[in-house]
Amino acid sequence: MSSKFSNYNFKGLKALVRVDFNVPLDAEFNITDDTRMSATIPTIKKILTDGGSVILMSHFGRPKEGPTDKYSLKHLVKHLEFLLNENEQSSTPVFFANDCIGEQAFHFANALKAGEVLLLENLRFYKEEEKGDESFAEKLSKLGEVYVNDAFGTAHRAHASTAVIAKYFTADKKIFGLLMEGEVISAEKVLHHSEKPFVAIIGGAKVSDKILIIENLLERATDIIIGGGMAYTFLKASGGQIGNSLCEDDRMQTALDILEKAKQKNVQIHLPQDSIIADKFAADAATQVMESNSIPSGWMGLDIGPKAVEVFSDVIQRSKTILWNGPMGVFEMEKFQNGTKSVALAVAAATAKGAFSLVGGGDSVAAVNQFKLADRVSYVSTGGGAMLEYFEGKVLPGIAAIK
Ligand code: AMP
Repeated sequence: MSSKFSNYNFKGLKALVRVDFNVPLDAEFNITDDTRMSATIPTIKKILTDGGSVILMSHFGRPKEGPTDKYSLKHLVKHLEFLLNENEQSSTPVFFANDCIGEQAFHFANALKAGEVLLLENLRFYKEEEKGDESFAEKLSKLGEVYVNDAFGTAHRAHASTAVIAKYFTADKKIFGLLMEGEVISAEKVLHHSEKPFVAIIGGAKVSDKILIIENLLERATDIIIGGGMAYTFLKASGGQIGNSLCEDDRMQTALDILEKAKQKNVQIHLPQDSIIADKFAADAATQVMESNSIPSGWMGLDIGPKAVEVFSDVIQRSKTILWNGPMGVFEMEKFQNGTKSVALAVAAATAKGAFSLVGGGDSVAAVNQFKLADRVSYVSTGGGAMLEYFEGKVLPGIAAIK
């Protein structure tokens, strides 16, 4: 699929770009992880290189009562200048407007010249942003001539700047940025154009968070691997003894329904045959390997065991499409990270053999980063909640508004 954004010519245009600059800061306002900012730099640079100018808008944190110093985007200006100018001959100035609408913002936007960047103050200083207020969206829309949405992380929200605003631009004047385009293309490839076998690897703590995604994947995947804490609800529902492992008793019937539906649809569900069990939820717990359906009382499964690693790795390695959301165990503790690491390695190996792999959801992304495997999978999604909702089969307002 060719990139519509790459083919768009921004020469002489003021582009109003919705980004997700919701980065974590320490007490001295230093950015502790700039992934979200650096991910959108190629979009900004492309517009500037074409001879356009860029007006950036973003939310930042959850300010409750209007403007708050702690949640001001002014703390990001210096770092944005650094990211835009590193390894560049010419220097791009970044201006800052201490409001996202109002006179100053309009004045700065009007005066902006080709090659310049303006960062607007936090959109969430206005309650209208999250309410999807039309008149607020219209005011924002007046700042630019083309609307670019590069904020996949908020694509599942129908907010003023992520969705409502799009209606104030004609079809040829609204477009996804490179980051958003990459996310949408990857997600569509997995959901609508998957090469078979297609394995979905679903892990993490709770079944309740993942029911909708599993149900939607039952329509598309050939195999579903279920690991992490959520596997024990399935194991108990199937008659296993799971000791003190995580379990959502009120979801046992749902788990049985999913297993039954999978049978009807000929989808193979793979639960971990064995587990690494621990006598407490702690890094220094005593551990042993045990069949996942015979865990003694007082012990809990905190990772998948060696047999499960072998089976899961085999399934992954013979797949052509891989979707991974959620860790296989408590990978934050060294004793319980082998399952997640082995799955990450199997995904990387399958990718090297030509499979398309998409990793998404906060903890699985953290895991591939921790094991330094991010560049050995096909795509790492930046949008946790948005990605989950997309794979649940929901229409994301931020995507629908532009399509
Ligand atoms: P989620 O946010 O639902 O994807 O869950 C991620 C969290 O699940 C991580 O913090 C893991 O430590 C945790 N987790 C994974 N496996 C287990 C398990 N077997 N028991 C308890 N917690 C787990």
